[in-house]
Amino acid sequence: MRLLSVVVPCYNEEENIGLFYDELMKNQEFFTETDTEIEILYIDDGSGDKTLERIKELKEKDARVRYISFSRNFGKEAAMFAGLEKSKGDYVVLMDVDLQDPPSLLPEMLAAVKEEGYDSVATRRVSRKGEPPIRSFFARIFYKLMRKISRTEMMDGARDYRLMTRQMVNAILEMREYNRFTKGIFGWVGFRTKWLEYENVERVKGETKWSFWKLFIYSLEGITAFSTMPLMLASLIGVCFCIFAFIMIIFIIVRKLIFGDPVSGWPSLVCIILMVSGVQCFCVGIVGQYLAKTYMEVKKRPIYLVREEC
Ligand code: UDP
Ligand code: MG
Repeated sequence: MRLLSVVVPCYNEEENIGLFYDELMKNQEFFTETDTEIEILYIDDGSGDKTLERIKELKEKDARVRYISFSRNFGKEAAMFAGLEKSKGDYVVLMDVDLQDPPSLLPEMLAAVKEEGYDSVATRRVSRKGEPPIRSFFARIFYKLMRKISRTEMMDGARDYRLMTRQMVNAILEMREYNRFTKGIFGWVGFRTKWLEYENVERVKGETKWSFWKLFIYSLEGITAFSTMPLMLASLIGVCFCIFAFIMIIFIIVRKLIFGDPVSGWPSLVCIILMVSGVQCFCVGIVGQYLAKTYMEVKKRPIYLVREEC
């Protein structure tokens, strides 16, 4: 008998708790046949609606349901970490509660880990239908950029929906960083991963919790957590400007010697000053980003705080 932990982060998802449970239970026959026990671990990420009540109702009905409720909203990254930490299974799967991660894929995922010898089975969506075009556009740019500037493998369209062995979960739990970017962490820890592809599914009920701005900040998190290339870029820009200034100095001296010194050209001077100070601020900003992240890491604050668990 093997135990599978299903970890489900929820934030204001009262409508989806039950729907998710019903959909997951459609695999019950498969679980029984393959001698797999399950535990469903809901993480209530400081919801302000009836999410926790719904989870407790489910727990009354089914003893395999467990939950952790945070003292406030800590974000999906923290919820996933808490779920991995509190899970007891030999295998652990991370899933969204909005049914965008189809539970019907579970048998295939479990089989790949149990029979084909993989350590994890990850999923990626091959289409982004139903998503605002501008969001898809920037997501593509982000993954392209990440592939260039980071050595960690990151797939375009990769979801957090992933089934892992206990060994891989323990490896992830060793990474106790405060600024978490799980998609990068999965790649960083390595292990043998099988990729499953599926068409994008839209969420059943409710609204996405990620605004464009939140996603933008999250993408910066990803970049600073898994690449130091921007810092290198700042130095590189500095060097380019030095070379440019050197050439200009020689040019001006030569011009002075040959043509004398006609006093003109202050508009170009203003343009250069403006541009250079802009570039300087940009570079200081990059350094600031890394410094801020380092500051938060050094504080060693807990990743999440539990108010109630069962
Ligand atoms: N979620 C969470 N905490 C948050 C935001 C989201 O636990 O602060 C959960 C949410 O309940 C859902 C999953 O993370 O189960 C994915 O969120 P969402 O569907 O809003 O994101 P999207 O699928 O649009 O990327
Ligand atoms: Mg979703």
